[in-house]
Amino acid sequence: MSALVDLKNRLAEINAIYAAAGMMSWDQQCYMPPGAGAARATHLSILSRMAHEMFTADEVAKALTQARSEVDPQSEEGALLRVVQRDFDMATKIPTALVEEKSRLEVESHEAWVAARKNNDFASFAPMLERMMEITRQEAEALGYRDHIYDAVLDRYEEGATAADVRAMFDTLRTPLVKLVQDIQERGKPTHDAALTGDWDQKKQSEFTELLAKSIGFDFTRGRQDTAHHPFCTGWSVNDVRITTRYLPYIGSAIFGTLHEAGHGMYEQNSPEKWDLTPLAGGVSLGIHESQSRLWENIVGRSRAFWRRFLPDLHSAFPALASMDLETWYRAINQVKPSLIRVEADEVTYNLHIMVRFEIECALLEGSVAVRDLPEIWNQKYQEYLGITPPNDSDGVLQDVHWSAGLVGYFPTYSMGNLLSYQFWNAMKKDLGDLDQFMADGQFTPILGWLKEKIYSQGRRYTPRDLVMQVTGKPMGAEDYLEGLTAKYRGIYDL
Ligand code: ZN
Repeated sequence: MSALVDLKNRLAEINAIYAAAGMMSWDQQCYMPPGAGAARATHLSILSRMAHEMFTADEVAKALTQARSEVDPQSEEGALLRVVQRDFDMATKIPTALVEEKSRLEVESHEAWVAARKNNDFASFAPMLERMMEITRQEAEALGYRDHIYDAVLDRYEEGATAADVRAMFDTLRTPLVKLVQDIQERGKPTHDAALTGDWDQKKQSEFTELLAKSIGFDFTRGRQDTAHHPFCTGWSVNDVRITTRYLPYIGSAIFGTLHEAGHGMYEQNSPEKWDLTPLAGGVSLGIHESQSRLWENIVGRSRAFWRRFLPDLHSAFPALASMDLETWYRAINQVKPSLIRVEADEVTYNLHIMVRFEIECALLEGSVAVRDLPEIWNQKYQEYLGITPPNDSDGVLQDVHWSAGLVGYFPTYSMGNLLSYQFWNAMKKDLGDLDQFMADGQFTPILGWLKEKIYSQGRRYTPRDLVMQVTGKPMGAEDYLEGLTAKYRGIYDL
C-alpha cells in the first residue's frame, strides 16, 4: 500500500469520529434534553481525544513525509498533503500539557464567564481570563510567527493573515465608517422598524425562512433547518449540512439568521463530491466562509431587488406586515443604529465592534494592557468609535463568549468576511452583469453557479490569499466594501 493510500485510510477513520462528534454537538444545541449535558460532555471529550490521538500518531507523520515523495505538489493530492500538514502542525506544535490545561480551564472559565455576565461582575472572571491569555501567549510562541505574536493566533483561523494586514484593514475603514455613522445619525432621514417586532407565528416563520433558503439554492434534500439559541451551521458531509435559525419577537432575526446560515451551508454543500469526507472539502478559512454568509444575508437578503421578489410572500405569510411597502420594508431592514451588542449590530456599525476587540486582543498579547483594566479600555473605545458607553460590563466587555474559550484572533475574520463579500460580489457583477435583475426575478441559479464555480468547488485546495487573488484579481481590500456600503446607505438615509 502506498503511503498516500495509508494516509487517506487513516484520515477517513478520523473523519468518521469527527462526524459523530459533530452530530452530537449539533444535537446538543438543537434537541438534547437538559439533563443529558454531563453524559454528552463525557462522550464528546472521549471522541475528541481519540481523534486527536489518531491524527497525531507517528504513523501519520511518517505517511505524510513518505506521501510527499509520491505526489506532484501542484496536483489535488499535493493540495491534500499541504492541508493535512498544516492541520498536523497545528495539532502537534502545542505541548500536550498545555492542551490539557486549556481544555480544563475552558470549562471553568466558561462557567465563570456565564456567572460574571449574569452578575455584572468582571472582577470574578478576570483571573480566569488572565490565565487564558497566558495560555494563548504560550500557544502563539509554540506555533511560531515572524513579526507579531498576534500573527500566530490569527493564522489558525485565517491562513497567512497577519496583524499588520488587519491593522491596515481597520486603518482604511475607521475614518469613513465613523463618519458615515455620524452622518446617518445627524442628518439621515429616519427609518422605522417598530413594525418588525411582534408575536410572530413560529411555524409561519419556519415555513417562510425555508422558502427563502430553498429559493436561493440551499438544498433541503441534502440538509435541514432546525432551531438553536445561537444560530450556526454545521455538517459532516457535503450531503448532510445542518443550518439553524431562531424565532424572536423581531422577525428579522429568523429571516436574516436563516439567510446567513444558508450562505455558510451552500458553501459546504457545494464542495466537490469527490472530496467528500476528506480534509479538502469545506470552507478554506473563517474569513472566506463569513464572506459567503454575509453575501447572502446582506448583499442579497437586504437588497431592494430581493424583496421585489419576496415581499408578496412575506405579506401573505405575515398579514400584519401587509401595510409595509417595498421602500418602507427595505429601509426598515437596513436601519443603522450604534448599539452596544455586536451580534445585533447592523452592517455599517458591525466592523467598529470588531475593531475594539482586535485592538484589545493585540494589546493583551503584547502585554501592554492588563486584564483588570479591560472594562475601562472597552468603554473608552466604544465611546470613541460608536459614541456610546455601556452602562455595565455585562453589555460591555463581558458580552462575547470567545475569550472565555481562548478564541483569540477569531474576531477579525468577521470583518474580513464583510470586505470580501463585496469584493466577490463586484467580481461576479463584472462576469454576469445586472445582478439586481436576477434577484428581482427570483433567479438565483446564475449567482449560486458563479460562486460554486469560483469558490465553493475549490474547497480547501488553495490558500485563502491565493483564492481571493484568483477570483477577484487582487488581494483582499476595503475599496469594494466601502464603496458599496457608502452608496447603499447614503441612498437609504438620503445623504
Ligand atoms: Zn457566520
